[in-house]
Amino acid sequence: MREVIGSGRCTVPPATLRETQTASDTPCPSWCLRHEDADIGRPDAFRVHRGAIRFCGDISVQLERTQQLSDGAWEPAVVLLDGRDLDLRVARALSSTLAQVLDEAGQ
Ligand SMILES: [Zn+2]
Repeated sequence: MREVIGSGRCTVPPATLRETQTASDTPCPSWCLRHEDADIGRPDAFRVHRGAIRFCGDISVQLERTQQLSDGAWEPAVVLLDGRDLDLRVARALSSTLAQVLDEAGQ
């Protein structure tokens, strides 16, 4: 379900139950609400951990991190901005740039 709050306010939907609590020997990130396994049975099988989806207007924001199932190795976390992957460095720069632009606008 997609909840949208107007006026530029962001909202976090209520937490949902974790959907998969099987195979992993390592704990989920503290922010993980659900994860999915992919390419099971292949050497490069992986798990994608996902946090809450937040909406700012109609723009979705979600934290995601991928883990290899074979050795438990983690990929760097990314921010999904409307489905587009941003590494954390870019996401921080975007946040800073937005604040700067709003300052310039006098908001
Ligand atoms: Zn997880």
